[in-house]
Amino acid sequence: MTTKKEQDELNKDFFKSLEEEDPFGLNEEIKTITFTCKDCHEEDDVPDFVVAEFGLDKKKGEEVEVQCPSCGGTMIQARKNPK
Ligand SMILES: [Zn+2]
Repeated sequence: MTTKKEQDELNKDFFKSLEEEDPFGLNEEIKTITFTCKDCHEEDDVPDFVVAEFGLDKKKGEEVEVQCPSCGGTMIQARKNPK
């Protein structure tokens, strides 16, 4: 009967362990990469280890895309070079 609750507890532990794990030693200084929404041009700084995780599914050279927190659209890494 407590399966659902146990599942929640497991998830909580899982996310907690994610927060506590620090495989790259980035606790003190977290590098972020700026992403820009293709739809609403919202900017968001994403920690680079998160970007790296998204990148695991991508082929080399392929754009990492994250979901825009504002409009749910697609965010791509902001380019430094102007158009
Ligand atoms: Zn957006």
